[in-house]
Amino acid sequence: MIPYGRQDISEEDIAEVDQVLRSDFLTQGPTVPRFERAVADFVGAKNGIASTSATAALHLACLALEVGPGDWLWTSANTFVASANCGLYCGAQVDFIDIDPRTYNMCVKSLAEKLETAEKTGQLPKVVVPVHFAGQPCDMVTIHALSKRYGFKIIEDASHAIGASLGQEKIGACTYSDLTVFSFHPVKIITSGEGGMVLTNDDELTNKIRIFRTHGITNDVLDFDPRLPDEIWNYQQQALGFNYRMTDIQAALGISQLGRVDEFVAKRHGLAERYDDALSALPLSIPWQAPDTHSAYHLYPIVLQKGCSQKSQRELYDFMRARHILVNLHYIPVYRHPYFERIGFEKNYCPNAEAYFKSALSIPMFASLKGEQQDRVISVLTEALANTQ
Ligand SMILES: *Cc1c(COP(=O)(O)O)cnc(C)c1O
Repeated sequence: MIPYGRQDISEEDIAEVDQVLRSDFLTQGPTVPRFERAVADFVGAKNGIASTSATAALHLACLALEVGPGDWLWTSANTFVASANCGLYCGAQVDFIDIDPRTYNMCVKSLAEKLETAEKTGQLPKVVVPVHFAGQPCDMVTIHALSKRYGFKIIEDASHAIGASLGQEKIGACTYSDLTVFSFHPVKIITSGEGGMVLTNDDELTNKIRIFRTHGITNDVLDFDPRLPDEIWNYQQQALGFNYRMTDIQAALGISQLGRVDEFVAKRHGLAERYDDALSALPLSIPWQAPDTHSAYHLYPIVLQKGCSQKSQRELYDFMRARHILVNLHYIPVYRHPYFERIGFEKNYCPNAEAYFKSALSIPMFASLKGEQQDRVISVLTEALANTQ
């Protein structure tokens, strides 16, 4: 069985986790701040705030930006539901931008047009969440310029993109955004089991996120409300927060994995090159790389070309799966899920995202994918598409 993605755990990773298990702190110890510092230094951001997941990190980012009822959050139609749910958790309304048919990322032309209309109707977004789909960086320069023109904040959903870069900047440096979120779920580039992190260069947002991460409680006396008795009690709840803390066990795995992030991304690039060569003659599109970007290659989505007498997307999915190659579909346009249909979204709302959804499949792509496994994926895919032409 070959999955579409999986973790790569070394003996060193295990030893690091083992060490924390034998130490005084399983949580709220020194390892989480070490992981935060290590990720922030790696990407070139000022601060990192670790959390239980990227979903929690997105929620924390929205809380820090004071997203609430009456606000709009816009994101890409082609993403995991968490990129939109963070706005809904805060009582905001969400809307979706169609994708660029080449990168499958948020289309900046559609974004610009939608902003122009929204300005007229007084419904400009408070926050836009670009998603670096498959690890391919979005056009952040344009999105950042639009944020200045229309006054919205930017949270980059970089769940696919630790180790990617745009020009000279690593994704996560927040050069073109207020906040960036990473995921450390096992299918992503590096893992901490479950886990996520917010990166930012803004100290005020950092403090807010730290407080929301731990119940809305502060234990900094300087932040205390003097009207409450504080002589002996050393904490105050000042906002309604959550317990979104990462454990030191997870952080130890994260630190160890971070040491190999460049190696993981390089391996993914090697696999992508082999796929590019082997699949270029088949009736499908391989992932296009925008100039001046270095993808993290979280996914390798192929898109079946129209008008070829090849297997349909579903037939290909079944054919590959029957041969134990667990291809997957990333993503169902978020608004097509029943929950979003119930809140009023209609089929075909974003035509490019729908066309992509009807013809794409993610084939296996992960650092520990072996050459012979990849050869098998290539030969089964070639067989599938050749048979029916
Ligand atoms: C995986 C993923 C998330 C959620 O990550 P978790 O750490 O599992 O909460 C959010 N957005 C995107 C684009 C993702 O791929």
